[in-house]
Amino acid sequence: MNNKKGILIIGAGGVSMVATIKCAKNIDTFGHITLASRTLSKCENIAKTVLEKTGIKIDIAQIDADDTQALIELIKKVNCKVVLNVALPYQDLTIMDACSATNTHYIDTANYEHPDIAKFEYKEQWARNDDFASKNLTALLGSGFDPGVTGVFVKYIQQNYLDTIEYIDIMDCNAGDHGYAFATNFNPEINLREVSANGRYWEDGKWIETKPLEIRVDHDYPEVGVKPSYLLYHEELESLSKNIKGLKRIRFFMTFGDSYIQHMNCLQNVGMLGIEPVIHNGQKIVPIEFLKTLLPDPASLGERTHGKTNIGCICEGLKDGIRKKYYIYNICDHQECYAETCSQAVSYTTGVPAMIGSKLVYNNTWNLRGTRNVEEFDSTAFMNELNSQGLPWKVIELDL
Ligand code: NDP
Repeated sequence: MNNKKGILIIGAGGVSMVATIKCAKNIDTFGHITLASRTLSKCENIAKTVLEKTGIKIDIAQIDADDTQALIELIKKVNCKVVLNVALPYQDLTIMDACSATNTHYIDTANYEHPDIAKFEYKEQWARNDDFASKNLTALLGSGFDPGVTGVFVKYIQQNYLDTIEYIDIMDCNAGDHGYAFATNFNPEINLREVSANGRYWEDGKWIETKPLEIRVDHDYPEVGVKPSYLLYHEELESLSKNIKGLKRIRFFMTFGDSYIQHMNCLQNVGMLGIEPVIHNGQKIVPIEFLKTLLPDPASLGERTHGKTNIGCICEGLKDGIRKKYYIYNICDHQECYAETCSQAVSYTTGVPAMIGSKLVYNNTWNLRGTRNVEEFDSTAFMNELNSQGLPWKVIELDL
C-alpha cells in the first residue's frame, strides 16, 4: 500500500458506486481508496466496476458500521486521512465517534436519524462540534446534492449576486422514468420516511408545520418543464436558516408523479410504511424494512431510467438596495450518468459532491474545524469542482 494517507469510504450502495468511481478519477488527491461495507460482495462489485471504468485498483473490507470499536480498528488499519460515510444516516454517530477517536476527518451526505424514530436533525451531530474542533478535525455534514450542493449554491449567490438573501425556495425535480409503477430512487426506507412525514418550512424565525404533501406548486423547471412539486421538510432547512443571516423564509419542494403518490398513500393506509415491528406468523418484522425487500433495488434503476433531474435554488433578496431574484441549478441526464458510472442521476448527483467535499477537506482547501455545514465555507472551489467533475450549473435572473 502507498504510504500516503488515503480515503476510507463506508457503504456500498448506489451513492457509493458513484463516489468511489469519482474518488478513483481523483486518485492524485486521495492516494489510495478502501471501500468497506456490511456486505462484502457489494464492495467487490463496486471495486470491479471502478477497475473497469478507471483502471484504479481499490482495497475492500467488511465492516458493521454500527460497531464503533470495529470502525476504529479498521480506520487504523487502512491508514486514511478522511472517512466518507455513504452508508445510512443511522451510522452517522458511530462513524463520527470512530473518526474522532482516530484523528480522522469525517464527511457524510445525510443527517443522523435514529432507526426507531422517523425524525432527522443535526442536534446530535452538532453536539460533537467541540470534540472535532479540539482535535483540529473537520466533520463536513451533508455533502450530497440536497443537502450539499443546494447549500453551496446559496452561499455562491450570497458571495456573488446578493447582499442579503431574504427568500429561498429549493426546487428538486427528478423527471426520470424507470418504467416501474413504483420504486424509490434512493434507499426506500429513508426516502419513504422523508416523504410521508409532515412538511415543515421556516418563516420569520419560526417553523410552520404542514400535513404530508399538503402544499403543491406547479413549477416550471428549466429544460424539463412544468411539474407538480410538493413542500417537504428537508434537512438543509435547519442549517441554512441558522447560517444565512437576514433570511426571512426558506422552503423545500420536490416533484412526485401521481403514480408515486397513489402508491405511497395506499402503502401508508395499509400500514406498510410502519417502523414499529409487527408479529407475522410468529416472526417480528418491520413493515417498511419488508417493503424495502420487495421494491426494486435503487442501484438497479440506472440502466432503465431515462430523462433528467433539475435541482436548484431560487434566491430573492437585495443587491445595492435593489430587489433581485436568481435561479441557480444543475441539470443531469440519467442515461449520461449511467454511461459514466453505471448509476442513475439521483446517486450521481449525491456521489459527485460527496467526493468533492472529501477532496476539499482532504487537501485542506476547506479547513474550518469542528462540525460544519457546506454553506459555512467559501463556495468558489466547490463550484469550480462541480463544473469539472460532471455537475455543471447555471445562474439565471428571474422576473420579480
Ligand atoms: P443504499 O441503501 O443503496 O446503500 C447503503 C449502503 O450502506 C449499503 O451498502 C448498506 O449495506 C450499507 N450499510 C447499511 N448499514 C450498514 C452498517 N451497519 N454497516 C456497514 N454498512 C452498512 O443507499 P444509497 O446509496 O441510496 O444512500 C446512501 C446515503 O446517501 C444515505 O445516507 C442517503 O440518505 C444519502 N443520500 C443523500 C442524498 C443527498 O442529496 N444528500 C440523496 C440520496 C441519498 P448492505 O447492502 O449490506 O445493507
